[in-house]
Amino acid sequence: MTQKEFRASAHELVDWMADYLEGVERYPVKSAAAPREIIRKLPATPPDTGEAFDDIFRDFREIVVPGMTHWQHPSFFAYFPANSSPPSVLAEMLMATLGAQCMSWATSPAAAELEERMMEWLRGMIGLPDSFTGVIHDTASTATLSAILSARERRTEFLINERGFSPEMRFTLYCSTETHSSIEKAVKIAGLGKAHLRKLPVDDRYALIPRALEDAVDRDRRRGYTPLCVIATLGTTGSTAIDPLRAIGEICRKHQLWLHVDAAFAGSALILPELRWMMDGIEYADSFVFNPHKWLLTNFDCTAYYVQDVGTLVRTFEISPEYLKTSEREQVNNYRDWGIQLGRRFRALKLWFVIRSYGVQGLQTRLREQIAMAQGLADAIPQSNDFELLAPVPLSLVCFRYHPPGVDGQAQLDNLNAMLMEQLNRSGKMYLSHTKLRGQFVLRMAIAQTNVQQHHVDEAWALIQNTARALMQQTARSLEGA
Ligand SMILES: *Cc1c(COP(=O)(O)O)cnc(C)c1O
Repeated sequence: MTQKEFRASAHELVDWMADYLEGVERYPVKSAAAPREIIRKLPATPPDTGEAFDDIFRDFREIVVPGMTHWQHPSFFAYFPANSSPPSVLAEMLMATLGAQCMSWATSPAAAELEERMMEWLRGMIGLPDSFTGVIHDTASTATLSAILSARERRTEFLINERGFSPEMRFTLYCSTETHSSIEKAVKIAGLGKAHLRKLPVDDRYALIPRALEDAVDRDRRRGYTPLCVIATLGTTGSTAIDPLRAIGEICRKHQLWLHVDAAFAGSALILPELRWMMDGIEYADSFVFNPHKWLLTNFDCTAYYVQDVGTLVRTFEISPEYLKTSEREQVNNYRDWGIQLGRRFRALKLWFVIRSYGVQGLQTRLREQIAMAQGLADAIPQSNDFELLAPVPLSLVCFRYHPPGVDGQAQLDNLNAMLMEQLNRSGKMYLSHTKLRGQFVLRMAIAQTNVQQHHVDEAWALIQNTARALMQQTARSLEGA
């Protein structure tokens, strides 16, 4: 591709991008592609000679786009969203254009220094104490693994890094049954053994019970284990339950346990002072992670990872021998030593674009609007006589199910709601996902997509009710027929 062709194609693409975002509601939210439908359209072997960009772009539109689920559709209510916004997309374009690998200060001083500043901005925005220092990671999964590795190394005075495990080292870790699967994955990767991860019971709000933590720590001590680390969650994936940080933190302090706080989704909501109650006790935390790529209008991937003790973090990962340390080292951050990967993308740029474009108030307004929409839905659900809320709604995730009068068998309700979700998602008009709470099938509706408006929520709620009631009539008819 010549420079001239690049310029022409780039203009064409930007127009397509703007049209796409403007008209994204024309697409079915969830792709209707059948398994293997896309791969069958892709040649088995690569072309020997270069193809025209027009042909490549045509195939993108005709093969790829229909096989995509449209996460930027305002009626995307599934999982947690992967937020995006125009300034964030523009920053991604510039990042790709610069194509820099920002592993150390010297390989792009602006990337390192912008990252340092953005982590300070974000820290202030969410009300994290100044004693925390931040670094950008790709995902919360990676940040949590980093936290567990640091906990392991601090506890063993960096001995496992040096010599590996010895048989008498038997560490235990603690979280609730509602904790994200990335915690168990991290425990496995860190070599600690998932059998040593204690998943503790939750209360009626799905939050970890501190008493259960204390008991488990005591029991493990008596049995010769070394309790190592607790993972508390602000905003569990299932139902956005908020673990009680202060009570957990006090137990961690008493037993010298590393406290890692996973606020992957909910952390963004801490930009709202009225929600800072969630982080009461944060001073006890050794590490804290949240994902601006979930709920702060910043494209995936962008995870903010904060630690109280940068020295421990860097000692966990640092690879450069003393004699290679550069003269700037005392003054600058070489982020390759702050995490698992060596090579790094210039992710701070999108945060800078997003925060400056919206301003803190602009971001606060957007989140408050979405939380109000979720609260509105949470009020409407119990007022219908055939739907019920199944978890508190502290943020903007609503957990509910269809429960028509007269249908009370657990299996029947699970089935009915699974069928309801399937039909709603197949409609292309909205996309919901599900979870299990206390063994029950629960519909999850996360109202946090960048462009979601009240009318999208209203339309979704109407569609949910109509679809459910039609489904119930069908089921009743087929039962009568039988
Ligand atoms: C989404 C989520 C994660 C995982 O986030 P990634 O950035 O995809 O690794 C971890 N914890 C919680 C609570 C989450 O909601």
